[in-house]
Amino acid sequence: MSDDVDPRLSADTRTLHLGRAPDRHLGAVNTPVYRASTMVFPTLDDLEASAAGRYDGIGYGLHGLPTVTDFQAAAASLEGGHRAYAVPSGLTATTLPLLAFLKAGDRVLITDSVYGPTRRFAMNTLVRYGVDVAFYDPLIGGRIESLMTPATRVVFAESPGSLSFDVQDVPAIAAVARRHGATLILDNSWATPLGFRSFDHGVDVSVHAATKYIGGHSDVLSGLIICNEASSAAVHRTWTDMGVTASSDDCFLALRGLRTLPIRLARHQASAMKIATWLTGRPEVAEVLYPALPGARGHALWKRDFRLASGLFTLVLKPGPGRDRIAAMLDGMRLFSMGWSWGGYESLVIPVDLDKLRTVSRFDAPGPCLRLAIGLDDPDDLIADLAAGFERLGGRG
Ligand SMILES: *Cc1c(COP(=O)(O)O)cnc(C)c1O
Repeated sequence: MSDDVDPRLSADTRTLHLGRAPDRHLGAVNTPVYRASTMVFPTLDDLEASAAGRYDGIGYGLHGLPTVTDFQAAAASLEGGHRAYAVPSGLTATTLPLLAFLKAGDRVLITDSVYGPTRRFAMNTLVRYGVDVAFYDPLIGGRIESLMTPATRVVFAESPGSLSFDVQDVPAIAAVARRHGATLILDNSWATPLGFRSFDHGVDVSVHAATKYIGGHSDVLSGLIICNEASSAAVHRTWTDMGVTASSDDCFLALRGLRTLPIRLARHQASAMKIATWLTGRPEVAEVLYPALPGARGHALWKRDFRLASGLFTLVLKPGPGRDRIAAMLDGMRLFSMGWSWGGYESLVIPVDLDKLRTVSRFDAPGPCLRLAIGLDDPDDLIADLAAGFERLGGRG
């Protein structure tokens, strides 16, 4: 199946062919949805073999229906990982590996611009279980060495980081983690397996909110934990013990989304680049935080390590506009909606506070910030929507 797809083919082509086996599904191009909990066994021998973990088929719906395993196989192969585990949400994907690798008395280093709910899990749950949780400056790179102690078992990175899109020097952090025997987990949701090949850069566990670009249509919650060989057994243990496999219905939608990820990402990136470039020329704008944009923060590292960019970035406005002007701008948008997520075909905008959650680093934005998710609309239409929004922002609209 996935192993039959020639690794020399381009990622775009492989995305269409991985995790597919029409011969096992009456010739159906897409692996159908298998809805099943109980499986029945033809003989007592088979039943007993299943209990002993020696059965060739599927023993129970929780442990690998074809719709789930095909999604996992496609994702693992695409990023160059050993095995992937599908879970019910991106948040499960970020939190489960932390549980898998940490125990009381251990220390974990987490990036300061980590996705807010991942931070909350660490502070609410890991701390309660006796884990020492420390945060690091996203721009620390190899200097993370100074924070490593013998108890440091896990480093949790996210690049580009949430809201401020700081690009981390993942290979430098990976080298330090490896030297100290710590597991490096990376939240790779922004770039997807196509944009950043985690395992080529020393990451042990790459986690994804497949809810975002992989699903791509804002109609499914889905998470992926992709492991290298060394990290797979521990994740498998916790994934099985907790019973948090994903449903076939969700994996069907996520795998269906994955098929068009290359062409959608190319469009998201091209439109985001056009809009980010236009924004840098606007008098209202102080800075655009989009690492793919030449001259933007993190651009050199992005260029060195990434193959693609997605369409999510933050816009820093010049000081001045209060909440009423921001409300006038956002309430009147015609194509951009306001919503908490991103990665779908629709365009979104929300105000963000880049400093609200940080504890060990600062982002001193001179004015209000807006996070834009550039959807698949014609970029010129989106520019016109933003231009009218700036008129309202300035009290002229
Ligand atoms: C949205 C998001 C998640 C969580 O995904 P859900 O499927 O919404 O739980 C994890 N990491 C990042 C960076 C995200 O933006």
